[in-house]
Amino acid sequence: MIGLDLGSTAAKMVKFEGKIKEWRIVRSHQWKELIPSEGKICTTGYFRKALPNTKSITEITAARYGTTYFFPDAEVIVDIGGQDTKVIDIRNNSFVINDKCSAGTGAFLEFFAEYLGMSMEEMGNVYEVEKVELNNTCGIFMLSEVISNLVKGHGKEKIIAGIQWSFARKIASMIPEAENIVVIGGVAKNKGIVNALEKILDNKLMIPEHPQLINALGAALYGDK
Ligand code: ADP
Repeated sequence: MIGLDLGSTAAKMVKFEGKIKEWRIVRSHQWKELIPSEGKICTTGYFRKALPNTKSITEITAARYGTTYFFPDAEVIVDIGGQDTKVIDIRNNSFVINDKCSAGTGAFLEFFAEYLGMSMEEMGNVYEVEKVELNNTCGIFMLSEVISNLVKGHGKEKIIAGIQWSFARKIASMIPEAENIVVIGGVAKNKGIVNALEKILDNKLMIPEHPQLINALGAALYGDK
């Protein structure tokens, strides 16, 4: 069974046969490269309806299936993607979504990484460093604060750390009290964000080995039922 997750930023494919046999991540518009010549496909993600499929499920269902495969005790799932953040409370079947505000999305981080001339990998590896305080939670207003800090001579790493903290504060405000919190989605690969979230929530978060693939895995698992 193939799980395909076509999100706003990236397209993810997981082939599942008793275990993860194969996986790939490409930019969303390159999704055709992920379509297998044969086999059943279960799709998920914002653009799931645009894909050929045998079955199709929401990202909420996919996130539950994929996450509990690795963490059966998960209580809350925080899925941080390119254009939105979803917080799913498995205990009472509820979820909240932020798809209105740029702060708290991967695209916002990509914008600042590019502005500061860093790759996402480099940005993600900035953590446990001194940070500048950024007061604006709006991505657009934050740009002028970032520029003002650059003008003052603050280094890029300090500014990145400040952006990550401000981002993490926004996400943390969506998360309910819980012991077992799992973070998935591409932004879970950003150690700086995870580190700031852990400090703000005073909790050790659970991160799967390939957090960006969890919804594609969930689709494959659901499709196999
Ligand atoms: P969507 O499902 O909305 O397309 P994803 O869950 O695929 O989103 O996440 C995309 C986001 O993941 C990007 O906007 C970027 O911020 C982040 N990301 C992707 N790869 C990395 C990486 N190697 N390090 C840090 N962040 C990353």
